[in-house]
Amino acid sequence: MTSTSHPKRAFITGITGQDGSYLAELLLSKGYMVFGLVRRVAFEDEAHRMHRIAHLLDRIELIPGSLESFPSLYAAIKKSSPDEIYHLAAQSYVNTSFEDEFSTMNANINGTHNMLAVYRDLVPQARFYFAGTSEMFGRPSQIPQNENTPFAPRSAYGISKVAGFHLTKNYRENYGLFACSGILYNHESPRRGFEFVTRKITSHVAKIKKGLINRLELGNLDSRRDWGHARKYMEAVWLMLQQPKPLDCVICSGKTHSVREFCKIAFEYAGLNYQDYVHSVQKFYRADSTGQTLVGDPAQAENYLGWRYDLPIERLIHEMVDHDLSLVFTVRQSTKTEQIFNVMT
Ligand code: NAP
Repeated sequence: MTSTSHPKRAFITGITGQDGSYLAELLLSKGYMVFGLVRRVAFEDEAHRMHRIAHLLDRIELIPGSLESFPSLYAAIKKSSPDEIYHLAAQSYVNTSFEDEFSTMNANINGTHNMLAVYRDLVPQARFYFAGTSEMFGRPSQIPQNENTPFAPRSAYGISKVAGFHLTKNYRENYGLFACSGILYNHESPRRGFEFVTRKITSHVAKIKKGLINRLELGNLDSRRDWGHARKYMEAVWLMLQQPKPLDCVICSGKTHSVREFCKIAFEYAGLNYQDYVHSVQKFYRADSTGQTLVGDPAQAENYLGWRYDLPIERLIHEMVDHDLSLVFTVRQSTKTEQIFNVMT
């Protein structure tokens, strides 16, 4: 906490998302006052759009706004007057970025630019975090990738995040701000969106176990990913803003597993054989599939942040399957659960 004994104030964009919800929990546990930017439409559909933060609503303050609206961000930062800004909001799904390049670019580039400009003008003494991604490496020239690996994005999403990274770096260097970027590899959890492959697998395992469906279609089963747990990655994000100097940092597990391995572990945990249900289908192959492996080098995070990732992949997958099984088995017992389950179908 600050030496002034006032609780620190944190402002999170993307608080309704996977990472925002874990970060809000972490900051509350550390005594922060937490403010979150939420799209106005979410207030009209709380049960659905705020389900990840439903348990926090009486302890955080939500402020309406959107990345595309500079005035709304200005008002939100003025109201929250933060010591730390965590800019997590983004169109975060790579496949959607192929389908709708323009809204991805608009939200991710202009949204980040808006946030940085408001930060510089209103609270330049604050610290700023930008949510970068391993997708910025796209087709990497080296394995594993580290903070010095050149960016070579292969999707509108990756390009938009490279732009956000450079905007953040420029604001840091041109205006002397404490602004930095995390370059985070894929991180998952029971709160991951259903469109992402890991959650697609675990939600299908639950529905297959319940006898609701008997088929799971995926893309390339031999694609490998560097997967970690979102809750743990948010600890690294917080640590980045506690350092003496701003530093961009790769956050990763440093290990890869294939989609096939993920399926095998998830199905086996539910007492099923993945080979009886999983089908590799061309239409789900990613348009940017390069055959290159995105795997991070965690050395800088370990040496400078003192952050180490040591959770076995089985623990992450079992937690996700358990959660999705509980959603399926309690369906129709509560309206809220049913609404969440409906997203899974
Ligand atoms: P997520 O679950 O998809 O959450 C995205 C958040 O952004 C949601 O709260 C969403 O609000 C908000 N948002 C999207 N567009 C917005 C807009 N125009 N105005 C205001 N809010 C908007 O994503 P996540 O997994 O938590 O990821 C958090 C950040 O980390 C993202 O920037 C993502 O690109 C980056 N990242 C994630 C991973 C990963 O593996 N998860 C890896 C690297 C980087 P609604 O609820 O209203 O849609």
